[in-house]
Amino acid sequence: MIEVLDVTRVYQMGLVEVQALRGVRCSIQQGEFVGIMGPSGSGKSTLLHILGLLDSPTSGTVTIDGTDVGLLKEQEKSEFRLNHLGYVFQDYALVPELSVRENVVLPAMARGAPPDTYLKESEEILRQVGLGHRIDHRQYELSGGEQQRVAIARALINRPGILFADEPCANLDSNTSRTILNLFRELNEKYGQTIIMVTHEEWHEEFMCRVLYMKDGLIDGEKACKMRENKN
Ligand code: ADP
Ligand code: ADP
Repeated sequence: MIEVLDVTRVYQMGLVEVQALRGVRCSIQQGEFVGIMGPSGSGKSTLLHILGLLDSPTSGTVTIDGTDVGLLKEQEKSEFRLNHLGYVFQDYALVPELSVRENVVLPAMARGAPPDTYLKESEEILRQVGLGHRIDHRQYELSGGEQQRVAIARALINRPGILFADEPCANLDSNTSRTILNLFRELNEKYGQTIIMVTHEEWHEEFMCRVLYMKDGLIDGEKACKMRENKN
């Protein structure tokens, strides 16, 4: 479903070149819940940004559902993102002036979906993430875990094939993190949602199917997560 072939990303910092990715290869199947782990600065966020079409490789190819995304023009990329990809950030990135529901429907509005459809859909997704009672609340009224669940609902409103999450639990305590990870696991097991998550917490492995380990801009190992396999 996702094929990554020899992807590099070089950042030019004045005269200095930073090699954030040095030839990444991997493939991720539909329905997998994959973690990306590794030390700070190893390239995890850069890789996730590239897979989520928020950044482009310096060289190499990324194919998502048969589309070589490097060939898309900017406008086509935005459309592809809206139709196929959802993205969750560690700082939630909600719009504080808007209600929970208004935040969640933003990507559906951007896509031009009919209001009666996405309003109903937003209620269903908010119920699914356990926020059916928070629809008209605003960000300041919500806990960190609730804010992240709003962000997850927003990422899912267009029913994307792939959900990306960049350290979604970095600002949450371990109990709240567990709630978020359980939600991811449920989305993955019950609905076959493909999830790709960057994390540096070892214990998150128990929720995932597979972990890719990054080091110095390369994937230098991977592991199938036994606890998940036994559960299925
Ligand atoms: P990780 O997510 O594993 O911490 P990153 O992908 O954020 O790693 O960064 C990989 C390397 O690329 C680091 O050396 C980082 O400083 C550098 N880097 C990341 N983003 C930029 C940027 N926008 N400009 C310059 N260097 C960057
Ligand atoms: P993470 O915590 O996910 O590893 P970082 O905190 O390293 O991410 O980076 C946050 C943002 O800053 C990212 O968008 C990344 O591209 C950018 N960034 C990281 N390192 C650098 C750098 N050396 N110079 C400029 N931007 C950077």
